[in-house]
Amino acid sequence: MVNELVKSEKSRDSLALFVSDNVSAMLAYWDKDLICRFANMAYTEWFGKTKEEMIDKMSIKELLGPLYEKNLPYILGALQGKRQTFEREIPIPTGGTRYSIANYFPDIVNGEVRGFCVHVADITSVKLLEKELIRLKAIEAKNKELEQFTYIASHDLQEPLRTISNYISIISKDNKQEMDEQVKKYLSIISQKTDRMSMLIKGLLDYSRIGRKSKLISVDTKKVIDNVISDLGNLIKTTRSIIHIGELPSLYVYETELRQVFQNLINNAIKFKKKNITPEIWIQCIKKDSEWEFSVKDNGIGIDPKHFDRIFNIFQRLNSELDYPGYGIGLAASKKIIEMHGGRIWIESNPGAGSTFHFTISNLKP
Ligand code: ADP
Repeated sequence: MVNELVKSEKSRDSLALFVSDNVSAMLAYWDKDLICRFANMAYTEWFGKTKEEMIDKMSIKELLGPLYEKNLPYILGALQGKRQTFEREIPIPTGGTRYSIANYFPDIVNGEVRGFCVHVADITSVKLLEKELIRLKAIEAKNKELEQFTYIASHDLQEPLRTISNYISIISKDNKQEMDEQVKKYLSIISQKTDRMSMLIKGLLDYSRIGRKSKLISVDTKKVIDNVISDLGNLIKTTRSIIHIGELPSLYVYETELRQVFQNLINNAIKFKKKNITPEIWIQCIKKDSEWEFSVKDNGIGIDPKHFDRIFNIFQRLNSELDYPGYGIGLAASKKIIEMHGGRIWIESNPGAGSTFHFTISNLKP
């Protein structure tokens, strides 16, 4: 019974109407005199009209208003029997912009154009994604340029530094007898400082190279930490450090880089220990929604919260070089590596109360 009805001509018309009124695209038909002969709900609503006001009454010029002049070339093209496609950027009164794509399909019978059918779709989300993609590509290109610059600059800086070092050695050797203690002391300081500068430049070079040619692979993060602990064996032994390791997952990561993060954090946890207290470190990981959160906690000297942002910048150090040697690169490198993994790194700490470094790793798959 229902099937019979659906098949009848009359109900087929009403079905077509029902369908066209329930699609989000705007549909209309304009005859060759540019009078509206059909408009679906989306179309009339967009222009704030009713079907009664539009169909068989309204001209396209009246409906489009100031847009008419803009659309005229496409209207004339369609009336000449050529399909038209164009995009429009429409500011909306509430602020922001919507984007649409319009198609005019000419209705040609026996070689004569009777009118044209209009189809307008909202492509705002696609356009916004497209814009975001262009923005990200520009950032990526800028980052590459910056990395290239850092690489070249640090590479070239090593050369004059080597020359300075060589001349200091020659001067020291050749004038050993004549030099008084003061001059010897100055030369020794210059030598120490050039060595340090060379190490800083090397650090900068390594930092700029992070992420080059790296590949995501599935690894057991517990094994990564075991390897780091084995590498730090001597330091752990001499400081009698105690390390507690919780349950750790297997994840897709950039293995060498992640190993470097654990190496930096564990090394710091031991290096920044309190005097006369055995370093104790807790390493844990918990799953949070679509990411894993790792933490490395220590019982060391801690950090004043006002320095939390600073310590993740390259070459930023809070303690004297004599008490705690280092170059201020470890945390900046760790941040860069964690961001490569789609994650974040942050710290919880207070002076004298130990520090906990947290970082997240997204569920990555190659
Ligand atoms: P470096 O250890 O070579 O100085 P980092 O980039 O690893 O460089 O760390 C930057 C600074 O952050 C350190 O100089 C130190 O002041 C502080 N810091 C890092 N880790 C800790 C920690 N576990 N406890 C206390 N301070 C820390």
